[in-house]
Amino acid sequence: MTVDPPVRSAAVVPGAFPAFHALAKPRGSICNLDCEYCYFLSKDELYPGDRSRMSAELLEAYLRQLLEAHRVPEVTVAWQGGEPTMMGLDFFRRSVRLVEELKAPHQRVQHTIQTNGVLLDERWAEFFRDHDFLVGLSVDGPRELHDRYRVDRRGSGTFDRVMAGYEHLRAAGVDVNVLCAVHAGNQHRPLEVYRFFRDRMEARFMQFIPVVERTAEATPTIADHSVHPEAFGTFLSTIFDEWVRRDVGVVFVQHFDAALANHVGAPPAVCVFAETCGGAVVVEHNGDVYSCDHFVEPDHLLGNIVETPLGDLLRSQRQVRFGLDKRDRLPAYCRQCAVRFACHGECPKHRVATTPDGERGLNHLCAGYRRFFEHVDEPMRLMSDLLRAGRAPAEASALLAARDESGRAATLTDVSEARSVRNARRGTR
Ligand code: SF4
Ligand code: SF4
Repeated sequence: MTVDPPVRSAAVVPGAFPAFHALAKPRGSICNLDCEYCYFLSKDELYPGDRSRMSAELLEAYLRQLLEAHRVPEVTVAWQGGEPTMMGLDFFRRSVRLVEELKAPHQRVQHTIQTNGVLLDERWAEFFRDHDFLVGLSVDGPRELHDRYRVDRRGSGTFDRVMAGYEHLRAAGVDVNVLCAVHAGNQHRPLEVYRFFRDRMEARFMQFIPVVERTAEATPTIADHSVHPEAFGTFLSTIFDEWVRRDVGVVFVQHFDAALANHVGAPPAVCVFAETCGGAVVVEHNGDVYSCDHFVEPDHLLGNIVETPLGDLLRSQRQVRFGLDKRDRLPAYCRQCAVRFACHGECPKHRVATTPDGERGLNHLCAGYRRFFEHVDEPMRLMSDLLRAGRAPAEASALLAARDESGRAATLTDVSEARSVRNARRGTR
């Protein structure tokens, strides 16, 4: 039996979200680790006593609806958790097979999975390679920093197991995106973290995700393990300074890509720095759909795909409103901010602070983002000028070297001059 729905419809907004992202959690929030900062653990209460396993029937219905709901040829099938590898490899083999059966001839499908890496072995790595999976791997830096919070249920560090999993991926040539949570334990050691990823892991794709969690008390405060706002700004700025002088075009850091996109007026690839959001829903193991992975809570339950097609839930007035609120609920302080075009108030989940004039809804990380976006402003302008001139942003490294030497703001002419000098020194044209 399948659970394909001839179903109830939601009030659908035409034209909304032609491209979107659905994150499916086949084991719900269940995980084989017990990371101290993990916000999913408290979500156990949402489905108490539930076995949290996506059934074969629901998997087929989900993939069918996901493919049908897309109005652009590119489709991403994205798995996360909890820990999705706890479903076992056969679940993903079946998923890939179903996608091949169900997709339309014009559709191009990218498979992705977000994992803590501890269950990965040679078989997983070969499977990911054979089906071109992009694997997001959670690593918080070298051993001491990673093991600060990323522990198992006995409280033991997981670094060795994660690195063993990573070595399998690397040996198989799988594309890996390192996801680093930035928290109280690693916030003051940006270069150690970055260089570990770049030099020891030889990672080329990285994301730095700020940990901002609130305590469960009646009057919540920011949890101690959260990253400090200013420290986060310094963390990003310090890594940027190293990256922009030697790694542009070689290492891809999501924050930097998003900042550059906003500088050139292109849509950033990450929702938190877009003006509006809402195009990234979560599909739970039982088919429940929530507005966003950061809002898996009863107030943001849109419906269930057994009753209402995923596309209708995604394009419902409620979800469109959710996405527009990111812009419409910005406090006046943000609307007047010089770096708003790059920051856009970041994620509404983090808007738990109060502006200097007492308005609620300011991002807890505001001071850090201001610091970072102001710090990168000049190099970002240079890189966007280069892009507009049809040149590679990587030339900015030469430009900044010219600035460092001359002590004045650099221009595109400086880039050309710096390049000529460098090439002359190398004996090249
Ligand atoms: S709520 Fe935050 S994480 Fe969710 S879609 Fe909006 S910006 Fe992205
Ligand atoms: S830097 Fe602060 S004030 Fe400016 S847009 Fe971001 S959160 Fe708002």
